[in-house]
Amino acid sequence: MNEHDDPYFDAELDTLAVRAGQVRTHEGEHSEALFLTSSYVFTTAAEAAERFSGEQPGNVYSRYTNPTVRTFQDRIAALEGAEAAVATSSGMAAILSTCMALLKSGDHVVCSRSVFGTTTVLFTKYMQKFGVETTFVNPTNYDEWQAAVKDNTKLLFLETPSNPLSEVVDIRKLANIAHNRDCLLVVDNCFCTPALQQPLSLGADIVVHSATKFLDGQGRCMGGVVCGRHAEMDEVLGFIRSTGPSMSPFNAWVFLKGLETLRLRMDAHSASALEIATWLDQQPEIECVYYAGLPSHSGHDLAKAQQRAFGGVLSFNVKGDQAAAWRFLDATKIMSLTANLGDTKTTIVHPASTTHSRLSADDRAKAGIADTLIRVAVGLEAVADLKVDLQRGIAAL
Ligand SMILES: *Cc1c(COP(=O)(O)O)cnc(C)c1O
Repeated sequence: MNEHDDPYFDAELDTLAVRAGQVRTHEGEHSEALFLTSSYVFTTAAEAAERFSGEQPGNVYSRYTNPTVRTFQDRIAALEGAEAAVATSSGMAAILSTCMALLKSGDHVVCSRSVFGTTTVLFTKYMQKFGVETTFVNPTNYDEWQAAVKDNTKLLFLETPSNPLSEVVDIRKLANIAHNRDCLLVVDNCFCTPALQQPLSLGADIVVHSATKFLDGQGRCMGGVVCGRHAEMDEVLGFIRSTGPSMSPFNAWVFLKGLETLRLRMDAHSASALEIATWLDQQPEIECVYYAGLPSHSGHDLAKAQQRAFGGVLSFNVKGDQAAAWRFLDATKIMSLTANLGDTKTTIVHPASTTHSRLSADDRAKAGIADTLIRVAVGLEAVADLKVDLQRGIAAL
């Protein structure tokens, strides 16, 4: 497409988030249509044969393609600046499908040590079972990344900013390390979303998302998406068509509505998180606050350079012990005690005993997850009320 036949050629993110990908039917619906159908009807036997053989493009079955899912894929591809996107049934399905489509037995992966817990399990327990080996590295130590790459390394995988300590990784630097050795750089962009960071524009090859988090933004549906070049996305789609982790059209429709308010929400989450992090940093009962938006954070300058804002997730150590941290959580009355994030509702969690409990005490210490650490994913409630709630926690220390 070019500027003559695409009205959104060169359009800004806010416009793309509301309009990219929509194909109106003959009914003239203003909001995107929801195609709840598992299969599609052909007008003649000859047409059916041509569709099945691929000679004629078009829908066959919703495990392969669905118009509502396609609209979601086209919209998120536009937002990430990707050639194509493939939707999946969850964020983990997006990461699994990327691995299964692009790796084979005998290949090697280098992965940040600070990734979503289940991503670590996928690499160590399941990919390993099929002969793919993974080396985990400190995400901000570029010498470690460089040294871990071997002749059979195919893929580098990272999240930035990391969960829960908000470590910021230089995507451009990692893209160079990957490309010098003919590897692909995969970035899980769940915490920033394309509203705050576009890894492909910084040199990454593939972006994966859990749409369950900020893309929906309202805690309703599970989903995921992989974005990148046609060559790799065709492989990912091939895997999904043959094995089944496709996105439900209903969920795609919900995510489309979520994307329309994505930037407004991400800006609001970020502004509130910055205000709360700054306030917590001044409380004598709080030992240390981890949020890249604070000038004292080691990743602050890099985050300023590669992100539009600092996102909605922060964490902090309380003074005392694990019992004190638990008393803090139990004393809050507004925040939801749950491990989820990326919701309008603020959530609070104790990582050492929940999201990071599968790690040994030693590995947790190495990763900087203290027993006194608390993570807050700031929602869209009034900041003043959230501060009152955090004050309840502080009073219980
Ligand atoms: C939640 C999450 C995932 C997994 O997504 P699901 O939709 O729960 O499968 C992957 N990466 C990150 C960073 C996440 O927060």
